[in-house]
Amino acid sequence: MGAKEPTLWEVVSKTLDRPLLLVVSAPSGGGKTTLCTRLRAEFPEIAYSVSCTTRAPRGTEQQDVHYHFLSPDEFECRSRSGAFLEQAVVHGNRYGTLRSEVVTALSAGHDVLMDIDVQGAAQIRTAVQVAPAGDLLRRAFVDVFILPPSEAVLQQRLTGRGEDAPETIARRLQNARREMDTWRDYRYVIVNDDLDKAYGQLRSLVLTEHIKVLSDKGCCPGSDLR
Ligand code: ADP
Ligand code: 5GP
Repeated sequence: MGAKEPTLWEVVSKTLDRPLLLVVSAPSGGGKTTLCTRLRAEFPEIAYSVSCTTRAPRGTEQQDVHYHFLSPDEFECRSRSGAFLEQAVVHGNRYGTLRSEVVTALSAGHDVLMDIDVQGAAQIRTAVQVAPAGDLLRRAFVDVFILPPSEAVLQQRLTGRGEDAPETIARRLQNARREMDTWRDYRYVIVNDDLDKAYGQLRSLVLTEHIKVLSDKGCCPGSDLR
């Protein structure tokens, strides 16, 4: 006797059973941390990708919780060994995502949340576009850009956060214009004016991605496969 045919519901369940790689970018002060913290509080099963950085810890930030804080030599060593899925220099410091952390969590079926800059998001987007159809990262990839409602509000929020010196804020604002110009490259854009509304949109898109039927070719950002 041959193997039993799977039922329609078994096929649907297998098709939708897809962990997400949620890549969230925004200019500094755009509200990524606020929105991602809320998402992680509501959905604690989502794994957070802890990045490596050469910048010094700020405020109450803890080693291996907020970042893996590395010396420039340690970062370079990991970079040479191919440990990073993506890496970039942002506001004068190096940042990178450990490939092992992301792949391990996705392989175990967990959604993974990444808060990375536009350069890093572009690197992953390019990699998944050329990856084979069934590739884990390609199927999982979902990118979201958080936009502040205006430049004036962005400046107020950066100043109001009270964590950065005026020259750091000036530099971040300057970079923000270039970063915000990339919003069209993302699958989703959220304008973070009213916080509850913006969070509702982020939450909805996560839930919606979990009921999305992908084509046999997988999800391919930037193409007609979306
Ligand atoms: P990012 O992580 O993108 O740099 P943050 O999440 O730290 O940005 O937000 C920057 C500042 O703006 C914080 O002080 C935060 O509390 C505030 N903020 C974020 N979103 C909103 C919002 N919708 N309305 C008012 N203030 C906000
Ligand atoms: P901050 O120093 O304020 O925590 O982060 C500065 C910028 O670096 C933010 O835009 C943040 O999204 C980005 N960033 C944090 N981790 C990474 C990472 O692993 N890779 C890249 N490319 N950017 C990151």
